[in-house]
Amino acid sequence: MNRIVRLETFHNEFVCFVRVTAEDGVFGWGQTSTYNADITAQVFHRQIVPWALGADSSNIGALIHLIERREHKYPGSYRARALAGLDTALWDMAGRRVGKPVASLIGGSPGPVRAYASSMKRDISPTHEAERLVRLCAEQGFTAAKWRIGAECGDDVDEWPGRTEEIIPLLSRALGDGIEKLVDANSGFSVPRAIAVGRVLEEHGISHFEEPVAYWDIEATRAVTAALDIDVTGGEQDWDMVTWKRIIDMRAVDIVQPDVMYMGGLSRTLEVAGLAAAAGVTCTPHAANLSLVTICTMHLMAAIPNAGKYLELSIEGDDYYPWQRDLFLGRPFEVVDGHVTVSDAPGWGVEISPNWLDRSIYTEAALETFKPSAYGALYHKGEKL
Ligand SMILES: [Mg+2]
Repeated sequence: MNRIVRLETFHNEFVCFVRVTAEDGVFGWGQTSTYNADITAQVFHRQIVPWALGADSSNIGALIHLIERREHKYPGSYRARALAGLDTALWDMAGRRVGKPVASLIGGSPGPVRAYASSMKRDISPTHEAERLVRLCAEQGFTAAKWRIGAECGDDVDEWPGRTEEIIPLLSRALGDGIEKLVDANSGFSVPRAIAVGRVLEEHGISHFEEPVAYWDIEATRAVTAALDIDVTGGEQDWDMVTWKRIIDMRAVDIVQPDVMYMGGLSRTLEVAGLAAAAGVTCTPHAANLSLVTICTMHLMAAIPNAGKYLELSIEGDDYYPWQRDLFLGRPFEVVDGHVTVSDAPGWGVEISPNWLDRSIYTEAALETFKPSAYGALYHKGEKL
């Protein structure tokens, strides 16, 4: 038993870091899911902190499970986003306590992980996208790259007329045979259009077709997967284990893509990876920005037996996402010969930038002084926390 005695958050609108401290003085850093992080921080303090303060820090999965049950009337994205902050901080703490990287705690080892260059842009012409992906592959040694087709939840209306038809052959030719090619439709197509586009992708040697149709329509996704030879992939939005069991049982996709932060942390993502492994399904997680989500995913990829061929690594820097600036000390996402490196330092192996923390909004909850909100007091029915 090593009780949690302090939970601190440092947030702005985009990022919320969590620091958890146990009664032996060991601490760990985690992060809630990015975007609307100010709202997530509020959910964290209202609905996660009352259950976590005073709880045993050493059985992470059990604590996450308990909080899900205690807050069962609030299933969904924000609960999972906030839980991710607690879970990832506790994993960092567990690693720091024994002097090992998280990858080693979950059966893997630190070292290089192959990455693919992942474009986040649709507002980019096919010519410009070809130019920058070819350049990045040459400069940083990427051997796989992903670009965007269709429009996000676009109902078959393209980003602009003809973009999908133009970018597929153009990028395929520009990247050539030595580079593995991936595309992401972000739920952009109907089933017939997705199957038609999928045949074009197959003709041009693309190997990964992500979120071809509305992701929430699992039957539609399965229809596309069944019709095509290309690997159909998805699951980045999903966090509910019942949904995950359905997706995997019915082979709705060829490759599952849980997001560590949308899932509610590493513990729940490991559950999905385990379900997939038992069914012989590959797991290539979603990690779409250069915050802690990609660090956590690097450790996960270095450990699970059914890890896909490559880590998703966003190529969009601080110019496109200014909120990513100055989050960490050092260069945790440095690419050498198309690989990033899982650090052998304890925990996640990264340090949050003190400058960033100084500029953030700080909230602290300590076991000895904590007072639940009116909601919390009512919900706990006067029970001493
Ligand atoms: Mg995606």
